[in-house]
Parts: sequence; structure tokens; C-alpha cells
Amino acid sequence: MRLAVIGTGYVGLVSGVCFSELGNQVICVDNVQEKVNLLNNGEVPIHEPGLRELIAKNTQAGRLSFTTDLYEAVNNSEIIIIAVGTPSLPNGKANLSYIELAAEEIGHAVHDYKVIVVKSTVPVGTNERVAELISKHASASFDFASVPEFLREGTAVRDTMNPDRIIIGTLSDKAADMLTELHRPLTDQITITDVRSSEMIKYASNAFLATKISFINEIANICEKVGADVEEVAKGMGMDKRIGSSFLKAGIGYGGSCFPKDTQALIQIAGQMDYDFKLLKSVVEVNRDQRFNVIRKLEDLLGDINGKTIGIWGLAFKPETDDVRDAPAFEIIEALIERGAHVKAYDPIASDNFNKSFHGKEILYCDSAEEAALNADALCILTEWKEFIDIPLSDIQLWLKTPNLIDGRNIYSEEDLENTPFAYYSVGRPKMNNGVREGKPILTF
Ligand code: NAD
Repeated sequence: MRLAVIGTGYVGLVSGVCFSELGNQVICVDNVQEKVNLLNNGEVPIHEPGLRELIAKNTQAGRLSFTTDLYEAVNNSEIIIIAVGTPSLPNGKANLSYIELAAEEIGHAVHDYKVIVVKSTVPVGTNERVAELISKHASASFDFASVPEFLREGTAVRDTMNPDRIIIGTLSDKAADMLTELHRPLTDQITITDVRSSEMIKYASNAFLATKISFINEIANICEKVGADVEEVAKGMGMDKRIGSSFLKAGIGYGGSCFPKDTQALIQIAGQMDYDFKLLKSVVEVNRDQRFNVIRKLEDLLGDINGKTIGIWGLAFKPETDDVRDAPAFEIIEALIERGAHVKAYDPIASDNFNKSFHGKEILYCDSAEEAALNADALCILTEWKEFIDIPLSDIQLWLKTPNLIDGRNIYSEEDLENTPFAYYSVGRPKMNNGVREGKPILTF
């Protein structure tokens, strides 16, 4: 099939590349010339494992190309996939200006039948609005469909090639058939539904996963108070098939380009229809609070952190990505700087992106984990990069001025801490001091 993918970000680029890998003819479009130039020179503007190799293979095979010329790309394709960004507006609503602009541009290029797919995450009703905008300019008929994306950054290629399910929201049998044929090589789990339900499935899925994370984080906070271990609790809960073990990892809260914005957008979508989504509002509040536990624990260890040097490991919102959008590191580092701390930070690949968005000169960006930890009064682990997991505690002990460790991702176990001098705080587990668990709190009944 001949496809045009509009927007070559994390979703558009990965989808386009994977569809070309399946043998389709794919033109990826972006309106940022610099991005397209990079791609045409064999470089990849984002970090995703396996992506570079697939781009090289499929461009060489002549199945994949990159352009800024949306008109030509749409004109030459049967299926048009819109994957532009839908970031949050200051009021939490989804910003639909990119998608509306793309829709108008696509409309001008529709001179024969097309299937137009919205892959971007959009509020209920947006597909209908997009179809309206396209039809203002189109000179031929088209059908439209909502096919939301569920990939995760860091494993985007693997997720795209092995999806749990494909949701196709459309009223058109022809579009449903064409899109089923396109996705069939990926999975048999294809559900055809109506457009509004499809749009809602995406928000509901992300809101549910965010709820699971905030839930386990609150359980973790209670575990700390009652002397239980959240890792054990999550394991026991996850063995129940009705619950499942995924998204039960306690930490410093979710971040990234999806959960924060999609939870806010769903609260807005509900609110516009006079529905107060109380549960989701709490999920968001719990998530925001969870980040500040790092500061509370640091203050517990160091007292006043004014003038103290704090090492930070990890700026990306999760490992294997250079995406820092809504990463917990922003608020944590901001709070540290506000309190007068000197911050030294290291991330294997996300420092440049973080620096661009943070606009803060106060951080010292380091070239290695060692440099960030060296002579610091405490070290905070904010992203569970494998590089950090592989570093023995004995090295960290040598590097730090005082052995204070805040492990926001629970990368170390109690056994790892045995026979070490660390004052160690993790999430939802007892504090450790000099290799010994802090005594259990006295419980009241
Ligand atoms: P992104 O910001 O990384 O990429 C969007 C791209 O679209 C940019 O390269 C931008 O230059 C381009 N663009 C914008 N307007 C354009 C236009 N008119 N013509 C051509 N190109 C245009 O965004 P993303 O992370 O890939 O997300 C895209 C959508 O997918 C969002 O709605 C997001 O919520 C959703 N989504 C994202 C993820 C994720 O993990 N990133 C997962 C599932 C769904």
C-alpha cells in the first residue's frame, strides 16, 4: 500500500518506518526542514532502539522516504496517517492547532479517494472536526478513521511491530477493510468500532495506566509508614490475573509526553460535558506530590539543603529515551535549586534536551555518572538507566562526599545495601542505615 505519514516525531517516524518494513511504500512528512534533512542524510532525530537500522534498510530498499512536501506525499498515497503533536494548552486541554493545520493542508491534496487516519491522541469529536476541515478543500471523496497509537517510548519499534491490539474507529466498511489489511501482518487482535469510542479508548487506557501508577505510589507511601515493602506488595498483587503485574512499579511518578497531558485532557473533556472526573484529578495530584518525596527524603537526610551539592542520575522520564517532556526531574531539580542546592546532573542521552527545555544555567551537566556523584553530599537516582544499575555501590561510596543515596526507582535491593555505609531511601521500602533496615514503626490500633 502507499502511505503518507504526517509528522515524523516518536509516533509518526516509528509507525512510518515499521509500515515500510512490512513492505508498504511510505513517505514520511514533517514541516521542520532540519528534521527531514537529518533523516535524508541517514541520521535519526530521536533515540529509539532499533530505529536507525530499520530506517537505513528501508530507505535503501526504496520503500521509505522523507519530505517536507505534504501535498506531493498525500497526492501519491492511498492512506494518510496524521501523527502530529497534540500537546497540552496551559488550561490542560489538548492543543489541536497542529492537527487542524495538517487537516487543511491535506484537504488541498485530496484529488482521488483516500483513507485518512488520525493516529494522534485527540479529544472525542476531533476526527469529525478533521473530516470537516478536509472536506472544505478536498475535490474527491475520502473516509476517515481513528487509529490510536499505544507504543511506548524506549520500546517503540518493538511495540509497533508487536501491538497488543489495533483499534480502528470508522463508519466506513471500505476504510475498515483497507486498515485491517494494513495492520493484519502485525496482529489478529483488530477491533473495529465507532470513531468516538476509538478516541475514548486511547484516553481511557492512558488514564487507567496512570491510575495504576498513582495507586501503587500511594500504597508505597503507606508501606513506608507501616514498615511494609511495596515491591513485595506489588508482586503479590500482580499475581492476581485480574490485576496483572504491569504498571505496579512504585517510583517518583509518571512523566513523559503522554500520561500527564492525556490525564489533563480527559479531565477537561469530562469537565466540558459537566462531568467532574474526581478519581482522575486525584491521580494527577498524587503524581505531582510523589515527585517531592525525593526532596522530603533529602531534607530528612541532610537537614537544610541550602549550599549542599546534590548529584542527579537520570533526566529522561524513563530509560532508553531522550524525551524529557514532563520528566519528574524538572520539578525535582527546580525545587532543589529553589532551596539553594548545587545540582550536578548526568543522563546518558537526555542532557541536551533537558538543557534546552530547562533554561536553567544553575545545573552542572556532567559527562559521566561518576562526575555527577563526585564529592556530592547526596545522590538521587531519577531514571533507571541500565548504566546506573550496573554501577556497584562500592564505586558510588568512593565518589560521594557522604554516602547518602535517594533511589527514586528502587534499583538497589536490601541485599545490595548490606555491609555498606549508606543512608539509603528508596520508595515504599524501609530506610536503610549502614546496611541495616530501620526498625519497624510502632503501629497503633
Ligand atoms: P512529536 O512532537 O514527537 O512529533 C510531532 C511531529 O509532527 C513533529 O516532528 C512536528 O514537526 C510535526 N508536525 C507538526 N505539524 C505538522 C504539519 N502540519 N505537517 C507536518 N509535520 C508536522 O509527537 P509524538 O510524541 O510523536 O506524538 C504524536 C501524537 O501521538 C500525539 O498526539 C501523542 O499524544 C500521540 N502519542 C504519542 C506517544 C509517545 O509515546 N510519544 C504514544 C502514543 C500516542
